[in-house]
Amino acid sequence: RLVLGIETSCDDTGAAVMDETGRILGESSHTQKDVHLKTGGIIPVVAQRLHKENIARVVQEALDKSGIAPRDLSAVATTVKPGLALSLGIGLQYSLNFIQEHKMPFIPIHHMEAHALTVRMIQSVPFPFLVLLISGGHCLLAVARDIDDFLLLGQALDEAPGDTLDKVARRLSLVKHPKCSTLSGGQAIELMAQEGNRLKFHFKSPMGQHYDCNFSFAGFRNQVTQVISKKEEDEGIQPGEILSCVSDIAAAAQYTVASHIAKRTHRAILFCKAKGLLPQNSPSLVVSGGVACNQYIRKTLQIVTDATGLDLHCPPAKLCTDNGVMIAWNGVEKLRKGKGIVAHTANIRYEPKAPFGTDITGQVK
Ligand code: ATP
Ligand code: FE
Repeated sequence: RLVLGIETSCDDTGAAVMDETGRILGESSHTQKDVHLKTGGIIPVVAQRLHKENIARVVQEALDKSGIAPRDLSAVATTVKPGLALSLGIGLQYSLNFIQEHKMPFIPIHHMEAHALTVRMIQSVPFPFLVLLISGGHCLLAVARDIDDFLLLGQALDEAPGDTLDKVARRLSLVKHPKCSTLSGGQAIELMAQEGNRLKFHFKSPMGQHYDCNFSFAGFRNQVTQVISKKEEDEGIQPGEILSCVSDIAAAAQYTVASHIAKRTHRAILFCKAKGLLPQNSPSLVVSGGVACNQYIRKTLQIVTDATGLDLHCPPAKLCTDNGVMIAWNGVEKLRKGKGIVAHTANIRYEPKAPFGTDITGQVK
């Protein structure tokens, strides 16, 4: 059995054809990053137009590479939640037309569940495991108990770390830096931080007095912005020009983000151990989402898992950010278990906001 996966929840148009073992037969993608970097953020109608212009070509390319004809597919799996309404709409409409034309079932996919399960395509990570998703729109800690069963332990109360890093990078005008002009904000911060001294600046770690597993990044971003403004004044430069201490600020910001994420993850691990939510034998922490590409953050999390006896698993960077492969894989896992397959699509809608799992965040102390 073969699955076509389609992703359009944000600013990447992705498609992949996969067989039931998780082998990628063909994949293709189109990223809008360069366009959105120029406008300083995603403009939803622009994202929608670019998805519309590219989706047919991207899907065709994935099919061509796989050598599979549409009639040989068993199902189409497509992200329907959560994400930008206008972007989700293009992927869903395209998919519904496709399955109608070629007569096959549809598998609606939750984008964050797909991020959470991607690693299982590469290696066997049995349920249950702890998963940390850190991305452009989300920050959450959950126990994955099955492909469609998650216990939500904590989540971002304001903004997500990828969003925060993107905004800090923008405030630092990193896109004008010769080394960073094509990088996402998070990538730019990681690169600049390598040359910086994190001890030159100090940002307060968020939520020190909150004994739960939720995250907060807005107050931290505010602190960084204030420091940047102050430094611009000291150096006598205008916003938009690049500070001489830019790498030190990047290093301190990355350190604070990493340490906040590590502390909350550590608390989640202790909670899971106390409640017996993870297996006694080789329990695992899975980390995914775009921010999981960050090597410094991975290393910080490795310290936490080493100290608590967990195995750390991350998908390769390419599969941490948005792609069609992870959607196809989630479709394959559902197809194997005979779960979440819909024959009648009349009631299928996209959902820009969607809960993730069973929320027990209030019970995590
Ligand atoms: P969500 O998955 O929550 O809907 P999204 O799909 O927009 O959000 P992803 O594609 O998973 O997000 O991740 C994109 C984010 O990852 C961006 O905010 C980007 O800055 C961040 N990111 C990418 N690479 C790195 C890196 N090396 N270090 C830190 N952040 C990074
Ligand atoms: Fe994503």
